[in-house]
Amino acid sequence: MRYDSVIPLVRVLTATVLWVSGGASGWAAHSIRIPLTDGFDQPVGKPDGNGYYVFRGFYPNAHMGEDWNGNGGGNSDLGDPVYATADGVVVYSEDYGRSWGNLIIVRHAVRPPGGAVQIVDSVYAHLDKRHVRLYQMVKRGQSVGTIGTAHGRYAAHLHFEIRKNLQIGPQQTSFARDYTNYFSPRQFISQRRQLGGGGAVVVPVDTFNGQGPSSPAAAGGAKPVPVPVRDPREAAKA
Ligand SMILES: [Zn+2]
Repeated sequence: MRYDSVIPLVRVLTATVLWVSGGASGWAAHSIRIPLTDGFDQPVGKPDGNGYYVFRGFYPNAHMGEDWNGNGGGNSDLGDPVYATADGVVVYSEDYGRSWGNLIIVRHAVRPPGGAVQIVDSVYAHLDKRHVRLYQMVKRGQSVGTIGTAHGRYAAHLHFEIRKNLQIGPQQTSFARDYTNYFSPRQFISQRRQLGGGGAVVVPVDTFNGQGPSSPAAAGGAKPVPVPVRDPREAAKA
């Protein structure tokens, strides 16, 4: 798709949405101006994850995120707040059904010290409640929802991802499940806790090619993949 002809068109919620030239497949792409984030926090027990632990880590080709659970185990964390890991804009907020459950994706603009701007997505899955809507601007540490069970599929926990590929969306099966498309979340966050921030960047927002609960691609649902039990610290180094 091309983003070369940006024309102001509509204002949605608190964000200014720009219309951009349509993609080759005919769907319109949009973009939103968002602030560069001033850093990243953990998505539970803000800002450092206090009171929670990762019981299943990031593991390429098996588990593309981290599963956060309350120290009390089981469903002790059901209904606990889940926080935006950084400033950004909501690019997906839907109940995807039994696989993801309630799912939120937030897009962030990041400029590491001395580096070029990166655009990344943070993913919050299996939520009990969603507190934010599509295209809503969120602040680092703002509650975006609550920890849930994906409609009873799992013991309550947060599945959290950070993605470098902005096209994945809810239907991730056609994307390589490795570092070409994903970051190891705690590794990513630990290197970006405090950033300069300041300024703003225009980012595309409807990059999932029409995916949604009613799309044909969603009908089959994303299938969870069996994951070998493994020390998350090893997985982070894999
Ligand atoms: Zn998970």
